[in-house]
Amino acid sequence: MAKKPPRIISIANQKGGVGKTTTTINLGAALAAKGKKVALIDLDPQGNASTGLGIEHADRKSTTYDLLLNDMPLTEILRDTAVPGLSISPANSDLSSADLELVSTARRTFLISDALTGQDIKGLGLDYILIDCPPSLNLLTLNAMVASDSVLVPLQAEFFALEGLSQLMLSVREIRETANSRLRLEGIVLTMYDRRNNLCHQVEMDVRENLRDLVFKTMIPRNVRLSEAPSYGLPVINYDPASLGAVAYKSLATEMVARHIKLDGA
Ligand code: ADP
Ligand code: MG
Repeated sequence: MAKKPPRIISIANQKGGVGKTTTTINLGAALAAKGKKVALIDLDPQGNASTGLGIEHADRKSTTYDLLLNDMPLTEILRDTAVPGLSISPANSDLSSADLELVSTARRTFLISDALTGQDIKGLGLDYILIDCPPSLNLLTLNAMVASDSVLVPLQAEFFALEGLSQLMLSVREIRETANSRLRLEGIVLTMYDRRNNLCHQVEMDVRENLRDLVFKTMIPRNVRLSEAPSYGLPVINYDPASLGAVAYKSLATEMVARHIKLDGA
Protein backbone atom coordinates (compact mmCIF):
# COMPACT_ATOMS: atom_id res chain seq x y z
CA MET A 1 0.00 0.00 0.00
CA ALA A 2 1.31 3.44 -0.89
CA LYS A 3 2.28 5.56 2.08
CA LYS A 4 -0.20 8.24 3.06
CA PRO A 5 0.88 11.85 2.65
CA PRO A 6 2.33 13.39 5.80
CA ARG A 7 -0.03 14.86 8.36
CA ILE A 8 0.68 18.58 8.47
CA ILE A 9 0.18 20.34 11.81
CA SER A 10 0.58 24.06 12.50
CA ILE A 11 1.63 24.91 16.04
CA ALA A 12 0.01 28.32 16.46
CA ASN A 13 -1.02 30.93 18.99
CA GLN A 14 -0.64 34.63 18.27
CA LYS A 15 0.65 35.13 21.81
CA GLY A 16 4.39 34.94 22.24
CA GLY A 17 6.07 32.87 24.92
CA VAL A 18 3.31 30.28 25.33
CA GLY A 19 5.42 27.27 24.34
CA LYS A 20 4.90 26.98 20.56
CA THR A 21 8.55 26.45 19.72
CA THR A 22 9.17 24.22 22.74
CA THR A 23 6.19 22.10 21.69
CA THR A 24 7.24 21.92 18.05
CA ILE A 25 10.77 20.75 18.88
CA ASN A 26 9.83 18.31 21.60
CA LEU A 27 6.67 16.89 20.08
CA GLY A 28 8.65 16.43 16.87
CA ALA A 29 11.42 14.61 18.73
CA ALA A 30 8.89 12.49 20.64
CA LEU A 31 7.19 11.46 17.41
CA ALA A 32 10.58 10.66 15.88
CA ALA A 33 11.39 8.53 18.95
CA LYS A 34 8.26 6.52 18.13
CA GLY A 35 9.72 5.73 14.74
CA LYS A 36 7.83 8.42 12.83
CA LYS A 37 9.60 10.41 10.16
CA VAL A 38 9.16 14.07 11.03
CA ALA A 39 10.08 17.37 9.36
CA LEU A 40 9.81 20.68 11.21
CA ILE A 41 9.30 23.93 9.36
CA ASP A 42 10.62 26.92 11.27
CA LEU A 43 8.29 29.73 10.21
CA ASP A 44 9.37 32.26 12.83
CA PRO A 45 11.94 34.90 11.74
CA GLN A 46 13.47 34.53 15.21
CA GLY A 47 14.55 31.03 14.20
CA ASN A 48 14.27 29.65 17.72
CA ALA A 49 13.34 26.16 16.60
CA SER A 50 16.42 26.08 14.37
CA THR A 51 18.68 27.30 17.18
CA GLY A 52 17.07 24.89 19.61
CA LEU A 53 18.01 22.03 17.31
CA GLY A 54 21.60 23.14 17.05
CA ILE A 55 21.56 24.73 13.57
CA GLU A 56 24.09 27.60 13.72
CA HIS A 57 23.11 30.92 12.13
CA ALA A 58 26.09 30.78 9.76
CA ASP A 59 24.87 27.40 8.67
CA ARG A 60 21.43 28.50 7.46
CA LYS A 61 22.07 28.96 3.76
CA SER A 62 18.81 27.55 2.48
CA THR A 63 15.87 28.42 4.68
CA THR A 64 12.09 28.51 4.90
CA TYR A 65 12.31 31.88 3.12
CA ASP A 66 13.58 30.06 0.01
CA LEU A 67 10.75 27.56 0.30
CA LEU A 68 8.21 30.38 0.25
CA LEU A 69 9.67 32.96 -2.07
CA ASN A 70 12.37 31.29 -4.17
CA ASP A 71 10.52 28.13 -5.20
CA MET A 72 13.22 26.01 -3.64
CA PRO A 73 11.99 22.46 -3.01
CA LEU A 74 11.75 21.23 0.58
CA THR A 75 14.08 18.34 -0.26
CA GLU A 76 16.88 20.86 -0.86
CA ILE A 77 16.20 22.82 2.31
CA LEU A 78 15.60 20.14 4.94
CA ARG A 79 18.50 19.55 7.28
CA ASP A 80 19.11 16.54 9.46
CA THR A 81 19.30 17.13 13.19
CA ALA A 82 21.07 15.19 15.94
CA VAL A 83 17.81 13.26 16.37
CA PRO A 84 17.32 10.34 13.96
CA GLY A 85 14.13 10.79 11.92
CA LEU A 86 13.86 14.52 12.68
CA SER A 87 14.75 17.12 10.06
CA ILE A 88 14.15 20.87 9.89
CA SER A 89 13.70 23.66 7.40
CA PRO A 90 15.59 26.40 9.26
CA ALA A 91 14.65 30.07 9.46
CA ASN A 92 16.50 33.30 9.97
CA SER A 93 15.67 36.99 9.93
CA ASP A 94 15.14 36.89 6.14
CA LEU A 95 11.65 35.71 6.99
CA SER A 96 10.81 38.97 8.73
CA SER A 97 10.42 40.70 5.38
CA ALA A 98 8.53 37.77 3.87
CA ASP A 99 5.27 38.81 5.43
CA LEU A 100 5.36 42.07 3.44
CA GLU A 101 6.76 40.50 0.28
CA LEU A 102 3.92 37.99 0.29
CA VAL A 103 1.32 40.73 0.02
CA SER A 104 2.20 41.36 -3.61
CA THR A 105 2.61 37.69 -4.54
CA ALA A 106 0.06 35.67 -6.50
CA ARG A 107 -1.36 32.82 -4.37
CA ARG A 108 0.03 34.64 -1.37
CA THR A 109 -1.71 32.41 1.19
CA PHE A 110 -0.99 29.19 -0.73
CA LEU A 111 2.80 29.31 -0.90
CA ILE A 112 3.46 26.74 1.82
CA SER A 113 0.59 24.61 0.61
CA ASP A 114 2.04 24.61 -2.91
CA ALA A 115 5.51 23.84 -1.58
CA LEU A 116 4.29 20.92 0.53
CA THR A 117 2.24 19.25 -2.16
CA GLY A 118 5.11 19.12 -4.64
CA GLN A 119 6.15 15.80 -6.14
CA ASP A 120 9.44 15.79 -4.22
CA ILE A 121 7.68 15.49 -0.84
CA LYS A 122 6.45 11.94 -1.49
CA GLY A 123 9.95 10.58 -1.78
CA LEU A 124 10.77 11.84 1.70
CA GLY A 125 8.41 9.30 3.27
CA LEU A 126 7.40 11.73 6.00
CA ASP A 127 4.73 10.89 8.56
CA TYR A 128 4.45 14.36 10.06
CA ILE A 129 5.28 17.94 9.17
CA LEU A 130 5.10 20.35 12.12
CA ILE A 131 5.11 24.08 11.42
CA ASP A 132 6.35 26.40 14.18
CA CYS A 133 4.36 29.61 13.59
CA PRO A 134 5.37 33.16 14.53
CA PRO A 135 3.52 34.89 17.39
CA SER A 136 1.03 36.65 15.12
CA LEU A 137 -1.90 35.91 12.85
CA ASN A 138 -0.01 37.33 9.89
CA LEU A 139 0.32 36.04 6.33
CA LEU A 140 2.98 33.54 7.39
CA THR A 141 0.64 31.95 9.92
CA LEU A 142 -2.24 32.00 7.41
CA ASN A 143 0.03 30.24 4.90
CA ALA A 144 0.79 27.58 7.49
CA MET A 145 -2.88 27.03 8.28
CA VAL A 146 -3.87 26.90 4.62
CA ALA A 147 -1.29 24.12 4.17
CA SER A 148 -2.24 22.15 7.28
CA ASP A 149 -4.51 19.32 8.27
CA SER A 150 -4.82 20.74 11.75
CA VAL A 151 -3.79 23.44 14.20
CA LEU A 152 -2.33 22.57 17.59
CA VAL A 153 -2.65 25.40 20.10
CA PRO A 154 -0.33 25.57 23.08
CA LEU A 155 -2.02 27.48 25.87
CA GLN A 156 -0.10 28.76 28.84
CA ALA A 157 -1.96 28.01 32.04
CA GLU A 158 -2.25 31.60 33.28
CA PHE A 159 -4.99 34.12 33.90
CA PHE A 160 -5.30 35.52 30.37
CA ALA A 161 -4.85 32.13 28.71
CA LEU A 162 -8.15 32.17 26.84
CA GLU A 163 -7.72 35.72 25.62
CA GLY A 164 -7.10 35.69 21.89
CA LEU A 165 -8.18 32.09 21.53
CA SER A 166 -11.55 33.00 20.02
CA GLN A 167 -9.78 35.09 17.38
CA LEU A 168 -7.54 32.16 16.52
CA MET A 169 -10.53 29.82 16.31
CA LEU A 170 -12.28 32.32 14.05
CA SER A 171 -9.30 32.35 11.69
CA VAL A 172 -9.31 28.55 11.61
CA ARG A 173 -12.99 28.55 10.73
CA GLU A 174 -12.54 31.20 8.04
CA ILE A 175 -9.73 29.24 6.43
CA ARG A 176 -11.77 26.06 6.57
CA GLU A 177 -14.65 27.80 4.82
CA THR A 178 -12.54 29.48 2.15
CA ALA A 179 -9.09 28.06 1.40
CA ASN A 180 -8.71 24.68 3.10
CA SER A 181 -11.76 22.58 3.90
CA ARG A 182 -9.72 19.84 5.61
CA LEU A 183 -8.38 22.15 8.34
CA ARG A 184 -9.47 21.25 11.87
CA LEU A 185 -8.34 21.97 15.38
CA GLU A 186 -5.87 19.33 16.50
CA GLY A 187 -6.43 20.43 20.04
CA ILE A 188 -5.27 22.57 22.91
CA VAL A 189 -2.28 21.61 25.01
CA LEU A 190 -1.78 23.31 28.35
CA THR A 191 1.84 24.33 28.85
CA MET A 192 4.01 25.53 31.74
CA TYR A 193 1.57 23.88 34.10
CA ASP A 194 2.41 24.17 37.79
CA ARG A 195 0.51 21.71 39.96
CA ARG A 196 1.19 23.65 43.14
CA ASN A 197 -0.31 26.81 41.70
CA ASN A 198 -4.01 27.16 42.40
CA LEU A 199 -4.54 29.57 39.51
CA CYS A 200 -3.11 27.03 37.06
CA HIS A 201 -5.64 24.51 38.28
CA GLN A 202 -8.50 26.99 37.91
CA VAL A 203 -7.42 27.85 34.39
CA GLU A 204 -7.26 24.15 33.57
CA MET A 205 -10.81 23.58 34.86
CA ASP A 206 -12.04 26.59 32.92
CA VAL A 207 -10.38 25.51 29.68
CA ARG A 208 -11.58 21.92 30.01
CA GLU A 209 -15.13 23.00 30.76
CA ASN A 210 -15.21 25.27 27.70
CA LEU A 211 -13.29 23.21 25.19
CA ARG A 212 -13.83 19.68 26.49
CA ASP A 213 -12.46 16.95 24.19
CA LEU A 214 -10.36 19.46 22.33
CA VAL A 215 -8.05 19.70 25.33
CA PHE A 216 -5.34 17.07 25.53
CA LYS A 217 -5.27 15.03 28.75
CA THR A 218 -1.52 15.47 28.75
CA MET A 219 -0.34 18.75 30.25
CA ILE A 220 3.20 20.06 29.90
CA PRO A 221 4.59 20.96 33.32
CA ARG A 222 6.80 23.93 33.97
CA ASN A 223 10.16 22.20 33.89
CA VAL A 224 13.56 23.86 33.88
CA ARG A 225 15.01 21.08 31.68
CA LEU A 226 12.70 22.25 28.88
CA SER A 227 14.18 25.74 29.00
CA GLU A 228 17.78 24.49 29.29
CA ALA A 229 17.71 21.97 26.45
CA PRO A 230 17.71 24.49 23.53
CA SER A 231 21.04 25.96 24.61
CA TYR A 232 22.52 22.50 24.03
CA GLY A 233 20.83 22.30 20.63
CA LEU A 234 18.83 19.27 21.72
CA PRO A 235 15.22 18.31 22.38
CA VAL A 236 14.63 17.57 26.06
CA ILE A 237 14.14 13.87 25.31
CA ASN A 238 17.77 13.70 24.24
CA TYR A 239 19.10 16.21 26.76
CA ASP A 240 17.45 14.65 29.82
CA PRO A 241 15.23 11.69 28.94
CA ALA A 242 14.04 11.15 32.52
CA SER A 243 12.92 14.77 33.08
CA LEU A 244 9.26 15.59 33.62
CA GLY A 245 9.32 17.65 30.42
CA ALA A 246 10.57 14.69 28.38
CA VAL A 247 7.99 12.36 29.89
CA ALA A 248 5.20 14.88 29.18
CA TYR A 249 6.07 15.41 25.51
CA LYS A 250 6.35 11.65 24.98
CA SER A 251 2.91 11.28 26.49
CA LEU A 252 1.54 14.07 24.27
CA ALA A 253 2.93 12.28 21.20
CA THR A 254 1.32 9.01 22.30
CA GLU A 255 -2.03 10.70 22.89
CA MET A 256 -1.89 12.44 19.54
CA VAL A 257 -0.90 9.36 17.55
CA ALA A 258 -3.73 7.40 19.19
CA ARG A 259 -6.19 10.09 18.06
CA HIS A 260 -4.80 9.94 14.52
CA ILE A 261 -5.11 6.15 14.36
CA LYS A 262 -8.74 6.55 15.41
CA LEU A 263 -9.33 9.29 12.80
CA ASP A 264 -7.69 7.26 10.05
CA GLY A 265 -9.70 4.18 10.93
CA ALA A 266 -12.97 6.06 10.87
P1 ADP B 1 6.75 30.61 21.88
O1 ADP B 1 7.38 29.84 20.77
O2 ADP B 1 5.27 30.43 21.97
O3 ADP B 1 7.14 32.06 21.85
P2 ADP B 1 8.65 29.21 23.57
O4 ADP B 1 8.43 27.76 23.31
O5 ADP B 1 9.81 29.86 22.92
O6 ADP B 1 7.32 30.04 23.27
O7 ADP B 1 8.73 29.40 25.16
C1 ADP B 1 8.98 30.66 25.74
C2 ADP B 1 10.01 30.49 26.85
O8 ADP B 1 9.51 29.66 27.87
C3 ADP B 1 11.29 29.84 26.37
O9 ADP B 1 12.37 30.42 27.06
C4 ADP B 1 11.14 28.38 26.76
O10 ADP B 1 12.38 27.76 27.00
C5 ADP B 1 10.31 28.50 28.03
N1 ADP B 1 9.41 27.35 28.21
C6 ADP B 1 8.48 26.90 27.33
N2 ADP B 1 7.79 25.87 27.84
C7 ADP B 1 8.29 25.65 29.08
C8 ADP B 1 7.99 24.72 30.14
N3 ADP B 1 7.03 23.81 30.00
N4 ADP B 1 8.71 24.81 31.27
C9 ADP B 1 9.68 25.75 31.41
N5 ADP B 1 10.01 26.63 30.49
C10 ADP B 1 9.33 26.60 29.32
MG1 MG C 1 8.45 30.52 19.08
